[in-house]
Amino acid sequence: MGKPTGFIEHLREAPSELSPEDRIRNWNEFHMPMPEENLQTQGARCMDCGTPFCHTGELISGMASGCPINNLIPEWNDLIYRGLWREALDRLHKTNNFPEFTGRVCPAPCEGSCVLGITSPPVTIKNIEYSIIERGWEEGWIVPHPPAKRTGKTVAIIGSGPAGLAAADQLNKAGHTVTVYERADRPGGLLTYGIPNMKLDKKDIVRRRLDILEAEGITFNCGVEVGSDLPAQKLLNDFDSVILCTGSTRPRDLPIEGRELNGIHFAMEFLTANTRAVLDGKPGDDYISAAGKDVVIIGGGDTGTDCVGTSIRHGCKSINQLEIMPKPPEVRSSSNPWPEWPKIYRLDYGQEEAKALFGKDPRGYVTTATKFEDDGNGNVAAVHTVEVQWERDENGRFTPIHLPGSEKRIPAQLVLLAMGFLGPESPLMDALGLEKTERSNIKAEHEEYTTNKPGVFAAGDCRRGQSLVVWAINEGRGVARECDRYLMGTTELP
Ligand SMILES: Cc1cc2nc3c(=O)[nH]c(=O)nc-3n(C[C@H](O)[C@H](O)[C@H](O)COP(=O)(O)OP(=O)(O)OC[C@H]3O[C@@H](n4cnc5c(N)ncnc54)[C@H](O)[C@@H]3O)c2cc1C
Ligand code: SF4
Repeated sequence: MGKPTGFIEHLREAPSELSPEDRIRNWNEFHMPMPEENLQTQGARCMDCGTPFCHTGELISGMASGCPINNLIPEWNDLIYRGLWREALDRLHKTNNFPEFTGRVCPAPCEGSCVLGITSPPVTIKNIEYSIIERGWEEGWIVPHPPAKRTGKTVAIIGSGPAGLAAADQLNKAGHTVTVYERADRPGGLLTYGIPNMKLDKKDIVRRRLDILEAEGITFNCGVEVGSDLPAQKLLNDFDSVILCTGSTRPRDLPIEGRELNGIHFAMEFLTANTRAVLDGKPGDDYISAAGKDVVIIGGGDTGTDCVGTSIRHGCKSINQLEIMPKPPEVRSSSNPWPEWPKIYRLDYGQEEAKALFGKDPRGYVTTATKFEDDGNGNVAAVHTVEVQWERDENGRFTPIHLPGSEKRIPAQLVLLAMGFLGPESPLMDALGLEKTERSNIKAEHEEYTTNKPGVFAAGDCRRGQSLVVWAINEGRGVARECDRYLMGTTELP
């Protein structure tokens, strides 16, 4: 423990950010680095509480409590307090293949279960993680370490998101020859074509890690859709093992009147084409512009937030976001105690920008769309909405009941559907003869990752449903361990 009285002496200090007015002018990240002495002070706030819930990664009430990859948080808090940055980096890499991704985009369930958080604001764990890994890159401590010996075993990984990348990294370290197949033109999965550039920079941050993985011997075959460009059976014949990390890519639709109108898109069509335009330096044929438009986003989650931030950078005229659930409380409710993930009201970056520009949080709670209005030429002109009240139906399930008299009409020339995802696509699963769960994910147990087909494994969002980068890394590491055991009869992977 660094400083026994640190948590009494020092207040929590979050990293500073560029103001919304400045950052919306471009697609750059907007977090500012924190001076070293401030970080040491923040590390000193860690109480070394003895039973550190921050690194447990348990599911409580269906949400992660603590870090899902069991980062050794109190250890690196102490190390940076003492100025031992290299040692902190080594400790961080023991459990996390890609701290530069989680340090930027993780919602930090660790902080929700920090023991200091019972009585005071929790330790700034995520920013300390970010600062350790960035220091590592700046100092040149992160260099390729190809395995000393190859086992002669071959593994094909389908999908290059965080689950596929973590699995590839671990299996390559164990000496297996790994080939990653990715249908997009660039690797990274949602790290590249989902999470927008201002949250996670592609050209520098994602690319520099991919360069290390390639230099360590992992082969990436992009622009190859397994199941259509390349028969799935060929992978089974050519490789000793196959791992599916194909993500949860089927978006939930909203089949109400007017759904067929022009100007209504799934969020991922909008976000993917935007990132491609940012990376290519020019818009492609699939680009969807929000410039000068009234934008309505249906869905109040993270994907919706990214649509808000992206629409604002395009220069939209107005922005509204519909959320069917009630507004969360400002502080934890008694039914949501520590160390559970705090389900409280937060102003995420997109809403903060909307508030700065348009004067209010764009989210309308307990509200749903009932109809898309036609402008007379087949284009969307408005979204009709109604407020709902959540009541139990005869089976005891909570159901949204429309409230008469609460109807509204919101002008919209662009509507983005961001209502979650329904699991992986079926053709590849069917081609491989894989069993599915009731939720149409690939059937494989957490911590085992074996499908009904020997030698075929599944991990990440295609197995657990749409989740978080940190869970994808957890699953990528776990599937690598089980695949290594399958190939070698035993494993030393964590
Ligand atoms: C818009 C958006 C924003 C998000 N923001 C955050 C965030 O801020 N923080 C956070 O923690 N999580 C966030 N998430 C969730 C997070 O990105 C995912 O949980 C995570 O990326 C899942 O990783 P994965 O490797 O399982 O799958 P993915 O990242 O989805 O990668 C799957 C890859 O498989 C490829 N693929 C699929 N089928 C085939 C095939 N047949 N052949 C070849 N390739 C194939 C796909 O092209 C894709 O690249 C966000 C999700 C979205 C949609
Ligand atoms: S990966 Fe996420 S949960 Fe784990 S320590 Fe980092 S910010 Fe916290």
